Order: sequence, then structure tokens, then C-alpha cells
Amino acid sequence: MIPLIVLAGSLGAGKTTVLRELVENQRDARCHLIVNEIGEVPPSLGDFMVRSESAVVLRGGCACCIRREDLVEDLIAFANDRERQDKDVLFLELSGIADPAPVIHTIFGHPFLANHYDVQEVITVVDAYDSGATRRDGLWARQIALADRCILAKADLVPNEILDELSATIAEINPWASLVSSDHGHLGPARPRRVSEAARPVVDPTNLSAQPEHGALPTVTSIMVGDRFDWGSFGVWLSLLLHRWGHDVLRVKGLVPASPGEYVTIQAVHHVVFPPEHVTLEEHGEGHIVLITKNIDTERLRRSLDAFVQVN
Ligand SMILES: [Zn+2]
Repeated sequence: MIPLIVLAGSLGAGKTTVLRELVENQRDARCHLIVNEIGEVPPSLGDFMVRSESAVVLRGGCACCIRREDLVEDLIAFANDRERQDKDVLFLELSGIADPAPVIHTIFGHPFLANHYDVQEVITVVDAYDSGATRRDGLWARQIALADRCILAKADLVPNEILDELSATIAEINPWASLVSSDHGHLGPARPRRVSEAARPVVDPTNLSAQPEHGALPTVTSIMVGDRFDWGSFGVWLSLLLHRWGHDVLRVKGLVPASPGEYVTIQAVHHVVFPPEHVTLEEHGEGHIVLITKNIDTERLRRSLDAFVQVN
């Protein structure tokens, strides 16, 4: 049986940072990844974030619904891989809009997968810094309800009272999940939980259907970026976009060329832009920016960007 760890959490919650830490903590295991991106991201550049033995990126749709068959194929292919060893652990990072329930159902209900995979843990990354914009949504609760462990990402960015309140909310939804904070990308000790004897989960995990429960499906805009990309004007454009439409900008991420071989990461969630990281890559290729939005006309978004920035 192949140990499988499933990672869920909203768009921009910080799943990749947590994944990096989880992989680094697996000392003796050989870690492999399947990462589901709802956008079309070019293969080589998006995969640098986490060091692993192998990485498959399942692109262009969510693995809990429209790409579920592709996920099954990738899992079967991994299980049949002759290079596979006993020390292998597979991490499956779901897209931010994925409901983990149908994915788990699919694995348990599939004769081959159920016999080859041992789902060891479902980990849900909860964005502690999120202003609450996503909290009321049913998907948020379902991701928590299915978790064996919840990780409060970006815990260093919020005061303790907010963490306590968030922990209490999570414990109401799922009294059984263990809860850990991630400060500056490092996992801390388990947080004490105050669960009353009478606590009952808000969502009954035994009663989760195989049908995904999405919020409204967001729109994904992928932009290829060449060497002449004008970083400064892009910054101005992004600030204006987030200022006016930040609530509808679920996620901006990208990797853009700064100088030959040098790239800069772009990360924003709602109104918040995270500090760029500098990345050196051996292969030089085009950069890309992915904007995940709702209620914004993609054509207008592209026209507005074209008017501001030379992208390639
Ligand atoms: Zn889905």
C-alpha cells in the first residue's frame, strides 16, 4: 500500500509552503507529488517550489470534478510505476476550489486504488490571514470537516485572539482534527483545543456525498510573460486592480523573468500582495502569471493589462 497524504485548502491559503515543510520533514521517505492546478501553467516553471523525487502537475481543471478521471489515471500510473520503492510517499495537493470528499470517495470506491493506496492523512490548510471573505462558504467548512489535521497558515501575521477564535470555529466544524499553526512557513506544536463535551461537528463527515460542492467556479486567466516584461508597470497595474477589485481577485501567482536565469515570484490573495521571492532556475523559459478571479470579465482584464504593460 502506498502512503497517500491529501492536502486541501482554499486558493492562496498557503498550501505550497505547507507542502514544502511536510516534504522536508519526511526524513527517510522518498516524496512524490501530484499537484492539481485549475489554471494552465507551463510545465517546467511551476514545479520548482517543492523538492521531490517526482512531480506530476494536473492542469487545467479541478481534480474533484472535471479532472477526476485524470487524477485516477495519474494515481494508477504512479502505483504501476516500476521505479517505485517501499520508501515512497505520495502527496496530493488539491486545487483551492476542490472539495476533498469526492476525491476520497473516488479512491475508496475504486477497486484498484482502494487496494493500492493507504490514505494516511487529509490535511487542510486554513488561511489565518484571510479576512473572513471565504469563511462563510460551504466549501471552506467541507475542507475542514474532512481533515485529520488542520494547519493554520500565516499564523505569524495575525494576533492571538484571532487565532483562538479561528481555532474555536474549526473545532466546532471538526472536533476530531488536530490543529497546528504554521509561523513563517514552519509548523509549530499542536494547538490546545477547547472542545466541549457536547461538541458535534457542523458537517457530518460520514454523510459527505461524492458530489463536489463548489462555490462559484472562478475564472482562470493565464498570461505568458517574455523577457521584455515590464515589472514596474505590472506592479502599478496589479495595485490598481487589487485596490478596485481585490475582493474578486481570489489569487494571483506567477513566476516572471527578472534577468537571465533569475525569476521573481508574484503572490497575491485578495487585497494582499506577498513579498516576492527570487528564484534561480537552470533552464530559462518564459514566465507566466495566473489570475484567478470571479465576477471579472476576462477579456476586459486582458485589455486593461495590455494597455498598461508590455508582457512579452
Ligand atoms: Zn472540483
